[in-house]
Amino acid sequence: MKSELHYIYRSFNLKKMDHKVFNLIDEELQRQRFGIELIASENFTSQAVLDAMGTCLTNKYAEGYPGRRYYGGCEIVDQIEQLAIDRLKELFGAEYANVQPHSGAQANAAVFLAVLKPGDNILGFDLSHGGHLSHGSTVNYSGKVYKPHFYGVSRETGVIDMDVVEKKAHEVKPKLIICGASAYARDWDYARFRSIANDVGALLLADIAHPAGLIATGLLNDPMQHCHIVTSTTHKTLRGPRGGLIMMGKNFENPFGLKTKKGSLRKMSGILNSGVFPGMQGGPLEHVIAAKAVAFGEALQPAYKEYCKQVMKNAQTMAEVLVERGYNIVSGGTSNHLMLIDLRNKGVSGRDAENALGRAGITVNKNMVPFDDKSPMITSGLRIGTPAITTRGLDEKACQKIVGYMDDVIMDIGNEKRQQAIHEEVKGMMKNFPLY
Ligand SMILES: *Cc1c(COP(=O)(O)O)cnc(C)c1O
Repeated sequence: MKSELHYIYRSFNLKKMDHKVFNLIDEELQRQRFGIELIASENFTSQAVLDAMGTCLTNKYAEGYPGRRYYGGCEIVDQIEQLAIDRLKELFGAEYANVQPHSGAQANAAVFLAVLKPGDNILGFDLSHGGHLSHGSTVNYSGKVYKPHFYGVSRETGVIDMDVVEKKAHEVKPKLIICGASAYARDWDYARFRSIANDVGALLLADIAHPAGLIATGLLNDPMQHCHIVTSTTHKTLRGPRGGLIMMGKNFENPFGLKTKKGSLRKMSGILNSGVFPGMQGGPLEHVIAAKAVAFGEALQPAYKEYCKQVMKNAQTMAEVLVERGYNIVSGGTSNHLMLIDLRNKGVSGRDAENALGRAGITVNKNMVPFDDKSPMITSGLRIGTPAITTRGLDEKACQKIVGYMDDVIMDIGNEKRQQAIHEEVKGMMKNFPLY
């Protein structure tokens, strides 16, 4: 089936000018349209977000910040970037916002560059327990330049043990403590993290890349009240373009040893801004920043909160049906938009499950489970999330059906005929939920 690509591609005549690239984009559109997308970090932006990205703003150099640029001709992009900043501040109740980071990892790197010195101790959530590689993994910038230490989940409960975090913090005296994860299904006790950070004289960073949308709409605990700095991506639950951001809330309390509250906000803003540019990046992507402004505007609408509620309901439903069908979920369930399935009792690896589900039109990612005995390329788990399917319009009933498909595939993992048959059913199902 040939698609009707939207005006971005039509009006710029991509099809005529470069049919190879056009056709590949079209193939990807078909893949997205007719598959069930359960990758917890993915979502589908609105057409308006796509439209803003595919514009002439990509042509503009704008190093610096609104009103203070190193290039002429920035009068219009200044207004666009300021709009993005203002909407983001409103969305999270932030006092400071920087919308220039090209990605979540860049946002974190910029914060580290701004507030740490090479060799400083940092304390983050263990990658193999669900953390993110930009929080001190040895293969990442953060783990090469700074001295990483980690806390993890308890083996019994699958939940972070705050007493262990406290002990570890007193042991290693980190300059920076990071809360936030890529595969953790429970909420965060930011207040307790802050009290630990205060005890050891650390700065507290919350990386809310995954649950940002659920936090903005008040459905999860609010890090802005407790953390010195908050970073996020814009493309996960927040449903914007691929990118990053940095914020500060009201609670500064002199994290840099600065004197007055007012002065400290100005000074901290400057320090963080310099971390992004010129510290970590050159020119900002103003076309992406325009798309961020659009996405933040969408997230400020009441409909977005309804969407986020449905994301959580759908995740609850999937977790319940999985448990009914004998699957183990790390921490026993979910309080947010994702869950980690431990497949060890099913005798199937994460890699094999990911491949088989892929053949059935269901996209997931294999994932280490805490205390995994398999390698990161094999793994014992699957991470699944509901932001993308919820954007498509799927409800609890559809989620029950999807878990049924998944169980059928996993319990008969070698049966490719079955997988193909399910793939046809999946295509039929997703036809009813149009995308672009
Ligand atoms: C996804 C994620 C990031 C990184 O985002 P990129 O845009 O891929 O660089 C950072 N931190 C956490 C916790 C994430 O889940």
